[in-house]
Amino acid sequence: MADATTNPEQQSKPPRPSKPRTQKLELRERFQHVKFLDCNKPVGRVIFECWHCQQGIISEFRGEPIMGEFKGRPSISLVNVECPNCGKTAIKLSTGEILSTTAIPSPWKNDSTI
Ligand SMILES: [Zn+2]
Repeated sequence: MADATTNPEQQSKPPRPSKPRTQKLELRERFQHVKFLDCNKPVGRVIFECWHCQQGIISEFRGEPIMGEFKGRPSISLVNVECPNCGKTAIKLSTGEILSTTAIPSPWKNDSTI
């Protein structure tokens, strides 16, 4: 009698699941909405969303970025802008100083085409 039965042990290789690595990357490389206004004026403005809570924020900034040092190399110092909503660092800007930070309705919330 011919052995026509399939050997289940030989076909037991499960399809290798693709590793779900995208989650961590998404968090790290998440896109942040930022829109600069009045860049050519003494006081510029920037509209952005908080990195943590997506609160819409408008900030006025002034001055040139300060050159600092990072690990022995010259590096532009980033100014941390605190989110008025969640209190965390909403964004880091390479500018002289932040003059004001105001919470606004995010312009990106309802219109994703901006
Ligand atoms: Zn926030």
